[in-house]
Amino acid sequence: MNMDSSFEINIVFDDKCPKPGFLPGFGFSVLIYNHFTENFSLFDTGGNGNILIHNIEQFNVNTSAIKNVIISHNHHDHAGGLDKILQINPNIEIYVPIAHVKSYLRRYSGYKVHGFSELKEIEKNFMISGEIKGNFISEQAVFLKTIHDELIILVGCSHPGVEQFILIAQKLGNIKAIIGGFHGFRKLSYLENIDFIGACHCTQHLKLIKETFPDQFKRICLGDNYLF
Ligand SMILES: [Zn+2]
Ligand SMILES: [Zn+2]
Repeated sequence: MNMDSSFEINIVFDDKCPKPGFLPGFGFSVLIYNHFTENFSLFDTGGNGNILIHNIEQFNVNTSAIKNVIISHNHHDHAGGLDKILQINPNIEIYVPIAHVKSYLRRYSGYKVHGFSELKEIEKNFMISGEIKGNFISEQAVFLKTIHDELIILVGCSHPGVEQFILIAQKLGNIKAIIGGFHGFRKLSYLENIDFIGACHCTQHLKLIKETFPDQFKRICLGDNYLF
C-alpha cells in the first residue's frame, strides 16, 4: 500500500478491458482503501458474488477484512453480489438508500443495515451523499476527501443525474475526480473543472464525454488501481 496517498481506488467489477487475472461481469464495484482509517470499504457489489470475491482477491484483500459496503441503488448489477459478501463477512456495515432500509432488513434480518437522508461521514474523510431521489430510482454516492481537501466522487449508475451528486460535493471542496456510471447524462458543463472524468459502466454518451474532455477523460478498466 502506498503511503503518500489518501485513498486507493480498485476497480473490482466491470465488463470493460479486464486486466490479466480478473473476471469480467456486468455491473460495477469499487474496493476502497482509506489511509486515514486503514479500513477497506466496498462501493457496490456487481451482479455476481463469486466473480466479485475472485476480483477482490486479485488485490490480495480478504473479503472478511472489509468494514463497510455501500449500495448505490437497488439494481441487481450493483447489489447482486451482496449475499455472497454477507456469507463471508456477516459483521460488515451495510449502507443502502434510506427508502430501501426496511426491505433490506427484511431480507437480511440481524445484519447491520443503515440508510441516510442527508450527507453523512461514516469514517474519517469518507462520506455518503444520502439518498437522492430520481424520477424512478433513488440513489446515493460516495465522497472521499483527500489530505489536500479534494473530493473524489464514486457513483453507481447516477439515475437521478450526475449533477445532483456534483452539486453536493462542490460544497465540500474542489472535485478532483468522478468515477462510475453516468447513465444518460448530457449536462456536460458540470464536468468542466474536474481533472479525472472516469465515466464507465452504464454511461450512454461515453463518446461525447470523451470527445468533449479529451485530456480529463480516463478509460476505466476492470483491475485498475488509482491513488488519490
Ligand atoms: Zn448499473
Ligand atoms: Zn442502475
